[in-house]
Amino acid sequence: MEFLFLVNGNHNRMHAADVLHGVYYLTSQPIPGFTQIPSDATDSPLHKTSDSSSASMHRPSFAAEVSYGVMGANYPALELMALYAAAAMHDYDHPGRTNAFLVATYAPQAVLYNDRSVLENHHAASAWNLFLSRPEFNFLCHLDTAEFKRFRFLVIECILATDLKRHFEIVAEFNAKANDDDAAGIDWMSEADRLLVMEMCIKLADINGPCKRHDIHVRWTHRIAEEFYEQGDEEADLGLQVSPYMDRKKPQLAKLQESFITHLVAPLCNAYGEGGLLPGVWDEDSESSEDNGSSDETENHNLKCTDDSTISSDTNAPTASEGSRPLPNRKVRCLQTIHLRENYDYWVEVHKREQQEEEEAKSKEKNSEEDKQQGGEAEMETIEEEGALQRHYPTVSGCPFFLSMCICSHLKLYGTEFIIELPYQCLTAMHDIISLAQGIESFRS
Ligand SMILES: [Zn+2]
Repeated sequence: MEFLFLVNGNHNRMHAADVLHGVYYLTSQPIPGFTQIPSDATDSPLHKTSDSSSASMHRPSFAAEVSYGVMGANYPALELMALYAAAAMHDYDHPGRTNAFLVATYAPQAVLYNDRSVLENHHAASAWNLFLSRPEFNFLCHLDTAEFKRFRFLVIECILATDLKRHFEIVAEFNAKANDDDAAGIDWMSEADRLLVMEMCIKLADINGPCKRHDIHVRWTHRIAEEFYEQGDEEADLGLQVSPYMDRKKPQLAKLQESFITHLVAPLCNAYGEGGLLPGVWDEDSESSEDNGSSDETENHNLKCTDDSTISSDTNAPTASEGSRPLPNRKVRCLQTIHLRENYDYWVEVHKREQQEEEEAKSKEKNSEEDKQQGGEAEMETIEEEGALQRHYPTVSGCPFFLSMCICSHLKLYGTEFIIELPYQCLTAMHDIISLAQGIESFRS
């Protein structure tokens, strides 16, 4: 399978291995306060980690601490295997272009899948095609028919969940199940609940770049940027408008990453952490009511779980396993959220600097133009004429998306890239506008 991945760019075989590693990490590492269900309820291969001697399999220092659990222990082996297989398959034969591009250019895959989750359908279908193409590839020959069907169903569901267009829907469903005030909590005996957690898990592993150590995160960022720029080059060659963040002449890496973290990674990571599913360690040094806070509450809202590089244990681990001491106000230290905070701060800083530099350059330009203006009336007239040609677009305060949308006239190119840029509150409005635009277009035709 590894030979049909991109050689360069982001969606290469390393990414497949990385996501596989991510889901394995999330399902095999000790989670503070996680409650494992009784050992006879599942046949998980990770199940043996529930007793103290084998809990030390991955992190020996955890052996003495009883208030940890391993998520994979709550999964039957078949489901866990499906999650790992889905991770390896989820970007198989990726063309290095986005769904929006494939739809806009009427690519064969887009036509085949009716513009819906085009890439994800393609990854799942072509990987399964490979699997079924030769008997020797069938590593599941020992499963009976029902088991095989269930395995295939779970793999497909997990791969389709990686479509970022479904991001908000899946995170909202998880919050309603695990985190909202009236949430019933995750029922590990329910197949539907376990699948929902699998979907969250593969999604987190898929976009966990900003949760990695800074130098590694930066390297992945450059890979995704190069893939974007190649798409931008092709868009320009085809006479299409170059998508946001894909113009190599106008790199906006810091803005892209800041937005990507704020709108996609942090809400996902926060929901997952609040649900009590992130591996980590109890922070013995944390003060119960300590809150260093932040100077800008609004700016940090979506990163609230990563403030102070910790996650409050109030919500994410309310009931430790039986026999452990009460754990009110204890905090959890999690490497991923620490890295996320650091990387976010880094990109915010870079973005600010870039904006400053841009403004300085603009004011220099303006000054030199003003100098030129003093040169004569004829030139003045030309400048005024240019000014009159500028279009005035309506702006909605606090929502730069509306402005950029009007300017770009990108109604046909909605996709992941736009959603990345999009404040959550604007989603409904965006859908209304798309429907409206589509309505107008169909009326015209
Ligand atoms: Zn991926």
